[in-house]
Amino acid sequence: AVWERRVRSSARVRSRAGLSVLVTGAAGFVGSHVSIALKRRGDGVLGLDNFNSYYDTGLKMSRKVLLDRVGVFVVDGDINDADLLRKLFDVVPFTHVMHLAAQAGVRYAMQNPSSYIRSNVAGFVNLLEVCKSVNPQPSIVWASSSSVYGLNSKVPFSEKDRTDRPASLYAATKKAGEAIAHTYNHIHGLSLTGLRFFTVYGPWGRPDMAYFFFTRDILKGKQITIFEGPDHTTVARDFTYIDDIVRGCLSALDTAKKSTGSGGKKKGAAQFRIFNLGNTSPIPVGKLVSILEKLLKVKAKKKVLPLPSNGDVQFTHANISLARKELGYKPSIDLETGLKKFVKWYLTYYDPKKKNAW
Ligand code: NAD
Repeated sequence: AVWERRVRSSARVRSRAGLSVLVTGAAGFVGSHVSIALKRRGDGVLGLDNFNSYYDTGLKMSRKVLLDRVGVFVVDGDINDADLLRKLFDVVPFTHVMHLAAQAGVRYAMQNPSSYIRSNVAGFVNLLEVCKSVNPQPSIVWASSSSVYGLNSKVPFSEKDRTDRPASLYAATKKAGEAIAHTYNHIHGLSLTGLRFFTVYGPWGRPDMAYFFFTRDILKGKQITIFEGPDHTTVARDFTYIDDIVRGCLSALDTAKKSTGSGGKKKGAAQFRIFNLGNTSPIPVGKLVSILEKLLKVKAKKKVLPLPSNGDVQFTHANISLARKELGYKPSIDLETGLKKFVKWYLTYYDPKKKNAW
């Protein structure tokens, strides 16, 4: 009963025309930021996360504390647990699902392939099965990834480009997610919007990403490895600041049409959309390092190696015209400004003297 009261209170809509959103992966990097933004504007938000130990669970717990403070409750559970999902929909008739739970990371797929199939394929199907069976059916916005463009040599990447050459198992599961989502849209009338995020960074970020562990290693005086392409060409990423991504997610939720298959009967075609959410400004990894050196006031010990073929592609670069047109998406934070905010958070969070400052 206490649990149910917490679920209800977290999901209570506090503004007129507010949404009622189940956010999966809410203790994650993007999920925590999106949950806070939704809650702040008056939407009802319930989080779900399995708090797995892919990276520092302490960081996930700290994000949970932050979410608690703004009134977002995060249920500890797995998207593969159909009974739990049904129970949540019994308590709250969610209008929207923001699905961000996934096994992320390109390189870890070499070590633990089954965790990608479990969360990104089986877990997603399980969630869609529940969404299709409840009444009213929610509209779903979910995180795909720029990695679906794979070994595509043509940059910038546009949504119409081929996505049939994934460079990692992670990318393959994200690509599979798009195909699976399409079938639930087509057969069951679920409204589905997939967002292909491009290298998201910022405060409360993911410790397995380069900007994060470069910062840690530079501060520790540890050598960092910078990869380069064939013939000493640079490796570049379209780094996108978390606040820009959050705005894109909220806009995707706001513009999502209703699902059309409620009650098991499909009434007309439901919406299916895929958008790039990037920054349209790829930055070489060497440049990322020099910005960090400047902000941290420490020279990095660098080693340069050829990019191994274990999942990373050489370039990412988003064409965002479609998101600009349909979502009013307009990234506004450049890498230097965004990294300044990240470094400020990092130095506070990891400073034992300032541990409670956040
Ligand atoms: P994250 O790992 O910080 O967040 C994912 C959260 O989901 C974690 O807290 C994890 O505990 C939870 N989770 C994983 N499997 C689960 C399961 N089976 N059941 C319940 N919870 C589960 O990652 P993030 O960077 O916040 O990414 C969010 C989404 O965006 C993911 O789908 C990711 O693939 C996608 N994405 C992220 C980036 C990026 O640069 N951060 C880029 C492209 C796509």
